[in-house]
Amino acid sequence: MRIAVYPGSFDPVTCGHLDIVQRAAQLFDHLIVAVSENRAKVACFTVAERLEMLRQVLAGWDNVTVDSYRDLTVRYARAHGARAIIRGLRAVSDFENEFTMALTNKKLAPEIETVFLMTEARYSFISSSAVKEVASYGGRLDDMVPPLVEKLLRAKFAAYTEQGGY
Ligand code: ADP
Repeated sequence: MRIAVYPGSFDPVTCGHLDIVQRAAQLFDHLIVAVSENRAKVACFTVAERLEMLRQVLAGWDNVTVDSYRDLTVRYARAHGARAIIRGLRAVSDFENEFTMALTNKKLAPEIETVFLMTEARYSFISSSAVKEVASYGGRLDDMVPPLVEKLLRAKFAAYTEQGGY
């Protein structure tokens, strides 16, 4: 059984992430979409909220499961029998960070490969941070995030505005 882990913040999940999930799920027998509880990043959605969004948008994907972890990604992958870590690449600007991370992970766990999937052109401009920025000004998010995520973003930013801004 070929198992892969697709780690990320998914704060929130976007159509770009879903495209990577769809393609990775065709390459592996089982894909674990894993929300990393990254201490260095200030999140908009809690881990529980991100997991719930992922579960709902990925419902019906038989070989995809959703989880969260607070550990080294390679240690998490190893513990789950995964031989591959999936990452998506958008622009050249993604490369340097991803390259360093992949080499570090290779050093820590030589048996685990990082597999990069190139974004599809129509999703290449989408990032969780851009989506939050657009949502914070009430901009349209169609084709950037699934409808459920758009609804939750609207609710989240409405709540921030009521509290006096974000
Ligand atoms: P992280 O904090 O780990 O970068 P993200 O949720 O921002 O978490 O991204 C997770 C992975 O998904 C990364 O490999 C990122 O490059 C990839 N990704 C994000 N947006 C897109 C997109 N629009 N197209 C392809 N890959 C993407």
